Amino acid sequence: MKKDVFLYRTYSDYLREKYGEKVYKLPINLPLTCPNRDGRLGQGGCTFCAEVGTGFENLPNSYTVAQQLESNKKIIRKKYKAKKFIAYFQNFTNTYLPLEDFKKYVQEAVGEDIVEIAISTRPDCIDENYLIFLKEIKDKYAIEISIELGLQTVNYHSLKKINRGHTLAEFIDAVFYIQKYGFEICTHLILNLPWDDEDDVIENAKIISALRIQQVKLHALYLVKGTKMGEMYEKGEFQIIPVETYQKRVVTFLEYLAPNIIVQRLIGRAPEENSVFVNWNRSWWKIRDEIHEMMEKDNSYQGKRANYLGGKALDNSL
Ligand code: SF4
Repeated sequence: MKKDVFLYRTYSDYLREKYGEKVYKLPINLPLTCPNRDGRLGQGGCTFCAEVGTGFENLPNSYTVAQQLESNKKIIRKKYKAKKFIAYFQNFTNTYLPLEDFKKYVQEAVGEDIVEIAISTRPDCIDENYLIFLKEIKDKYAIEISIELGLQTVNYHSLKKINRGHTLAEFIDAVFYIQKYGFEICTHLILNLPWDDEDDVIENAKIISALRIQQVKLHALYLVKGTKMGEMYEKGEFQIIPVETYQKRVVTFLEYLAPNIIVQRLIGRAPEENSVFVNWNRSWWKIRDEIHEMMEKDNSYQGKRANYLGGKALDNSL
């Protein structure tokens, strides 16, 4: 991306503005599961979710929080001379832990060089007791708190197809609860679910913008062997759109996204082993760079078409 051209608000720039230097996320993997896997809300989980959940780069959950942080810090410090970090409780549904266990783990992550604690969870697992505790941590240690909420799509029918176990309603409810406590929210979306089309992509951007969510993380489908969706794909029960269509969808999404929202990533990274589909067998950064090129060529940028908010019908300049 050319430095003088604004394409979208990048996460790295945002972190540098906020914390005055580069900040690195350190994943933490806890021994827990998800109510959509253990039978409380559903069985088998989302149809794309692998047994290891989403944190394939994580250390084993037999390590303590402190051990995981220290071990990752060592690597990042050496490689990037980093001094500040975000403790990222990444895998499965962290607020599904009993409250006392959750408190213990989060408390363990507090440290001088930890500027933020990010908690990944499901929208239907936001309970005020957890938020009250996180607010106490924020106030006591002057540490930022952010919540990462999986949504994947706003399309009700696609959410049912992927056995998500919640719909947009629970997501909106969770957003309102979290906003009461002033924590930033990052929403995860998959822009190439087989049952979504471009209208759904646009609606994703519009709803995230209308809800005043602060950050988004975009993914392309990652299909692992043995998952329900992996099997469906191998049987030819659905097809995945070509990479060029995914790239166009990302551009469309960004154009409809409010210009102040931070974009953590345009496509995820994932290992090839044990997978049946990962990023069209191409490197994630090449796909990302091509999106940048497309945007530069077409004079496209985040928010270009975000003119639907704020009483559009009353705007006489249109
Ligand atoms: S909510 Fe997350 S952890 Fe639970 S089944 Fe779905 S993707 Fe897996």
